[in-house]
Amino acid sequence: MSIAADPTAGQAVKAADRAHVFHSWSAQGLIDPLAVAGAEGSYFWDYDGRKYLDFSSQLVNTNIGHQHPKVVAAIQQQAATLCTFAPAFAIDVRSEAARLVAELTPGDLDKIFFTNGGAEANENAIRMARLHTGRQKVLSTYRSYHGATANAIALTGDPRRWPNETGTSGVVHFWGPYAYRSNFHADSEAQECERALAHLEQVIAFEGPQTVAAVILETVVGTAGILVPPAGYLAGVREICDRHGIVFILDEVMAGFGRTGEWFAADHWDVTPDLLTFAKGVNSGYVPLGGVAISERIAATFAERPYPGGLTYSGHPLACASAVATINAMREEQIVEHAREIGERVLGPGLRELAERHPVIGEVRGMGVFWALELVRDRDTREPLVPYNAAGPANQPMAELAAACKQRGLWPFVNMNRLHVVPPCTVSEAEAKEGLAILDEVL
Ligand code: PLP
Repeated sequence: MSIAADPTAGQAVKAADRAHVFHSWSAQGLIDPLAVAGAEGSYFWDYDGRKYLDFSSQLVNTNIGHQHPKVVAAIQQQAATLCTFAPAFAIDVRSEAARLVAELTPGDLDKIFFTNGGAEANENAIRMARLHTGRQKVLSTYRSYHGATANAIALTGDPRRWPNETGTSGVVHFWGPYAYRSNFHADSEAQECERALAHLEQVIAFEGPQTVAAVILETVVGTAGILVPPAGYLAGVREICDRHGIVFILDEVMAGFGRTGEWFAADHWDVTPDLLTFAKGVNSGYVPLGGVAISERIAATFAERPYPGGLTYSGHPLACASAVATINAMREEQIVEHAREIGERVLGPGLRELAERHPVIGEVRGMGVFWALELVRDRDTREPLVPYNAAGPANQPMAELAAACKQRGLWPFVNMNRLHVVPPCTVSEAEAKEGLAILDEVL
């Protein structure tokens, strides 16, 4: 890791950014983006030579860490061979990437439709479900994020949907399980599961089962709270969908490719959806890539009938080459096993130990390298440290917490009243402990 300070270059990068880059999800006049000079493994650094331990994985994306040499080399080699080619052609790296993803996904999800990211994967999954069933409505949970394109943001339950709402999306929201703040007045995980399933059954009954094309869930809810489903919930949803002829979609854009300590979060509960969407970890975002893994039954719908979707860059050779290299490296270096082990042995126990000492922590939850600390004003009442969707002064405690982490060289992922601990799957024990020690000090 060679980190040379060059503040003048940093100021130039920042000035150019401020002059012409229009940033996503931001008030352009109120932001002050850090100018990043480089990254390697679990760290990145700025032009002042300040190094940060990346406990955000850049939007929970770089599962394999920054600048993995095998993936970088594969992209370089593919660029020298064939940079781009239209999706209609057979390309060696595209079929190899599809073969590898099909091999890893559960059950009969053996056909892979490539996209450029997660939202587009969800767009296509619901398009497939609607065409397969001939029905229009899609059910998704309030506590969810499914992306920012038109249908994906309509599926999203969290407040990022509000400014994008058209009111005519064909999406109906329901409550998923969340035992810590139960909507069902449940006092155990088992009761939460049972009542959440009864609630979904009731929503479907009142919507009219014959109008519902799909139910889409994040297997483990990511941005909206790292909510691990109770045992039996996913199997219960699978059974409800089967009974009503509804397509079951699992969104593994964030939870997939090792983050939970299995290749897919669905593997923890042995559940196979009809469609599984992925992105991020498939190639750690080195080149934009996502996709839909499709069951035989749904693929058969489009055997004789054209599938009406696809973009110019779908299955881009550079992206596919990086996915092949990423998956192979993750297998060779046993990175998924490592993520599980570091979660069980270091992160989980370390975060629970923090909770024993810091009453501001209301709940610790997660698995693998996918954890959240939910912060509260009062452990008994569970009043959140900041109100739901707080901004400006109301969000001050969380903003101060994020700033204090950054001052100490830890880049956190902070959302609402939660601090998400989501380092790369490759994070070492020493790095995980370094991050925990900073969190301890900051809390
Ligand atoms: N689905 C989930 C669960 C996500 O976490 C995200 C992004 O964070 C998306 C979909 C959207 O992915 P993208 O930003 O690649 O469109």
